Amino acid sequence: MLVLNSGSSSVKYQLLDMADGARLATGLVERIGERTSRLTHTPLNGGGDGGSGSGGETRTHDAPVPDHDAALKAAADELAADGMGLDSPELAAMGHRVVHGGRRFTEPTLIDDDVLKEIERLVPVAPLHNPANLRGIRTALALNPRLPQVAVFDTAFHTTIPEYAARYAIDVRTADEHRVRRYGFHGTSHAYVSRRTAELLGRDPSEVNVIVLHLGNGASASAVRGGVCVETSMGLTPLEGLVMGTRSGDTDPAVIFHLARVAGMSVDEIDTLLNKKSGLVGLCGDNDMREIRRRVDAGDETASLAFDIYVHRLRKYIGAYYAVLGRVDAVAFTAGVGENSAPVREAATAGLEGLGLAVDPARNEERAAVPRLVSPEDARVAVAVVPTDEELEIARQTYALVKHV
Ligand code: ADP
Repeated sequence: MLVLNSGSSSVKYQLLDMADGARLATGLVERIGERTSRLTHTPLNGGGDGGSGSGGETRTHDAPVPDHDAALKAAADELAADGMGLDSPELAAMGHRVVHGGRRFTEPTLIDDDVLKEIERLVPVAPLHNPANLRGIRTALALNPRLPQVAVFDTAFHTTIPEYAARYAIDVRTADEHRVRRYGFHGTSHAYVSRRTAELLGRDPSEVNVIVLHLGNGASASAVRGGVCVETSMGLTPLEGLVMGTRSGDTDPAVIFHLARVAGMSVDEIDTLLNKKSGLVGLCGDNDMREIRRRVDAGDETASLAFDIYVHRLRKYIGAYYAVLGRVDAVAFTAGVGENSAPVREAATAGLEGLGLAVDPARNEERAAVPRLVSPEDARVAVAVVPTDEELEIARQTYALVKHV
């Protein structure tokens, strides 16, 4: 399975062996369209279940890559050099990450003209992401029209959210006409992590209620009841919800009118402010949690306040989703910050013993790349660290769809 994540200026890919989920190659083409593009390709020799095993030598090429067409062609050449070109009989399908699938795409979907049109129709609600995803799919189709191409949508896992949680309390006709509602994102990660958390507890996903906290540069929370998503923090776009690396998360919508009227800012300027210059970077100038913690430890008050705002929002969502679920079996931390930042996990759960939530300090400090519990032995609610693996999940969903075709 070849998994492709085609972004606005980069293309990431991974080749996986579906016999055991082992990774055979990973690669990245960065700064597409700029003068200093770079391709990095690493052949790997497996290690089952999402493992990378021991790596081969990374090959790096610095040369201009003008567009996504050229990027995917360059990636295909690297794969072909390792004996796994896009026309290789062993390559069964390609799985594409597609950010916005609207309400229609509730499952991984085999791509045809009709599906391409619908992804295109969703561009107004995902103007940064869907066009880049589409470019990746179209190039792949051109390179090998016979290879099945599957779209795996970031929104799909959230399509089960009940109407009362998905609908904003604004005029129904306006909302419907412009498809304004909560879609949610990071769904592939929330699906994977909630399932892995149930496995970690030794229980079937259908029996377990989990709050998943996906804390990367983008961040979102979800409430998953018995394997089914019932609430998530991102909304029409990935701007809503938690404090993120550069995004504000929740604000009063009137902040926008205020800045337009009083500060004379344009809609595009406010868009950039809230998406790119807010969150942790807006609060303290840094969006890397490692650097923020270093500054906090050195007594930097600006960084301390940014950390407190970040954690306060997280705690509000934990409390809210506790109320949504009624009974919580586990809180799972994932993605760059969730997997690596013991201080964030500690602060997010501190003082919540009344809800059955706590971390064991020694377990919380341990570092490991496998799913693990960080709550005390007798905890009522498990607190887990579960590394996410969106590529493996996309590969598995793609494989499940095409293996019978
Ligand atoms: P993306 O949303 O870009 O996929 P990731 O899930 O890779 O993001 O998370 C990136 C973020 O994870 C970084 O910006 C940084 O804040 C955080 N991070 C990565 N490693 C560590 C670490 N060792 N300790 C604390 N935070 C970390």
